[in-house]
Amino acid sequence: MKNKITELFGIKYPLIQAGMIWCSGWELASAVSNAGGLGIIGSGSMYPEVLDEQIIKCKSKTSKPFAVNLPMLYPDIDKHIETIIKHKVSIVFTSAGNPKTWTNFLHENGIKVVHVVSSLKFALKAQEAGVDAIVAEGFEAGGHNGRDETTTLCLIPKVASEIKIPLIAAGGIGTGKGMLAAMNLGADGVQIGSRFVATFESSAHENFKSRIVNLPEGDTILTLKELTPVRLIKNEFFAKLETAYDENANEEQLKEILGRGRAKKGMFEGDLVEGELEIGQVATLIKSVQSAEEVVNEIITEFRNALLEQQTDKFKF
Ligand code: NDP
Repeated sequence: MKNKITELFGIKYPLIQAGMIWCSGWELASAVSNAGGLGIIGSGSMYPEVLDEQIIKCKSKTSKPFAVNLPMLYPDIDKHIETIIKHKVSIVFTSAGNPKTWTNFLHENGIKVVHVVSSLKFALKAQEAGVDAIVAEGFEAGGHNGRDETTTLCLIPKVASEIKIPLIAAGGIGTGKGMLAAMNLGADGVQIGSRFVATFESSAHENFKSRIVNLPEGDTILTLKELTPVRLIKNEFFAKLETAYDENANEEQLKEILGRGRAKKGMFEGDLVEGELEIGQVATLIKSVQSAEEVVNEIITEFRNALLEQQTDKFKF
């Protein structure tokens, strides 16, 4: 395939694997890039020396482009940026913060910048800050999310009609049909997270992967809007939050329940009871753990077939 996104990143398919804390290290990122998509190392859960090592390993496993995701809330962001520049990583996806802060500096160092947003307002701000492309992520997405609850179906056409730079759709996409739908809505490519968590190469704990492939519909929820909104699986930890909400807990009390390192406990250490299990609504469509290459190939094959189907009787006037 050839379009704005494949040309921008020098990749085969406009299919990008989301940078996800505790799930997307070098193994996943290099496997996705080798399969023709764009792999991303999620640096939000990595100490500076860990990111350094992850980039070195990723480079040793792929000669294809890959990116690093930098959540701007990360405490040692300047150290991460130094590491990215040192290793000449050519693409950075920034999220959860102001795109003006680092875009010019990254550009001066020859790095392409993509910013993740959840509304038109922030998409316009990111465009004004000079980013090379935007990821617009809808309400269905796992992990940190916007407060407005705008679904991908409503967000993508709105953003596509108002911005001039390439647009990547995210949130609720995990199949080839989903990819085609998002591109029909105006996106130039897609970013997929949940589907890649359930791969052999993801660094998520096996317990978390098993939970994902057996997840009943309706079992994720967007919560903690008072702190940083996050979509997670309803488990005992979430039940504690629910009780706290029923008792009108304030921000401080919610922070105390959340504590530190919940995401690591759930997604990396496999504590399905007390951990934070961040995943998107699309998880209910994931039926097995596969290799990242199989996931990419399956999505692209389904995308092609769905595209052909649009020329059949079902869509004729
Ligand atoms: P917590 O404050 O609960 O815990 C911090 C976690 O990050 C710990 O597990 C810690 O590992 C790890 N960590 C890595 N580097 C550092 C560092 N330099 N200083 C302190 N801790 C570090 O945060 P969360 O686990 O909820 O989130 C961690 C980061 O990931 C944040 O920057 C957040 O913005 C980002 N994030 C991004 C998401 C996204 O969708 N883009 C989703 C969720 C979080 P250890 O336990 O080994 O000390």
